[in-house]
Amino acid sequence: MHLKSLTLRGFKSFASATTLRFEPGITCVVGPNGSGKSNVVDALSWVMGEQGAKSLRGGKMEDVIFAGTSGRAPLGRAEVSLTIDNTDGALPIEYAEVTITRTMFRNGGSEYALNGDTCRLLDIQELLSDSGIGREMHVIVGQGRLDSVLQADPMGRRAFIEEAAGVLKHRKRKEKALRK
Ligand code: ATP
Ligand code: MG
Repeated sequence: MHLKSLTLRGFKSFASATTLRFEPGITCVVGPNGSGKSNVVDALSWVMGEQGAKSLRGGKMEDVIFAGTSGRAPLGRAEVSLTIDNTDGALPIEYAEVTITRTMFRNGGSEYALNGDTCRLLDIQELLSDSGIGREMHVIVGQGRLDSVLQADPMGRRAFIEEAAGVLKHRKRKEKALRK
């Protein structure tokens, strides 16, 4: 399974439809400060169901919608589509290619679709839950966080890896259970 492409329409600084295509392997996004690199990463989290405005570096959820610039009026909706290559069947769905779409309007909540059919957030979460990506599982190391990872002592580094691997929540549960 790998991410094939990401299309942003009216998401943050991407007022016009913009598609990024990812080949298997490593993809680097480069550009000057403020050009929208982190916005691309925010779009990835958002389309996979992220519900926290703070994780998206905004104050409220509507902040993901293009807010306008001196030369361009604000937009009323944001839409992001993520296409995943599923030829290896890693996602539990009978499609070789899966496109997740999330749309949000200024006046309301989000709508989700799987390969064009409207679905619930829960359907997206379930689809991604065992895949190593998705709301709880994808591992995004934010700006500034890299330094703290590199400079962490062995215990700190272990905590980081445990968090990424999803072990931390089980350890917390275990500690809680042992206290009782
Ligand atoms: P750096 O190299 O400094 O990390 P970056 O390429 O990661 O920069 P981003 O943080 O992705 O930059 O983009 C920031 C830009 O996105 C800012 O100019 C900000 O005004 C713009 N932006 C964020 N949200 C919106 C929005 N809702 N509407 C319009 N522009 C937005
Ligand atoms: Mg950035």
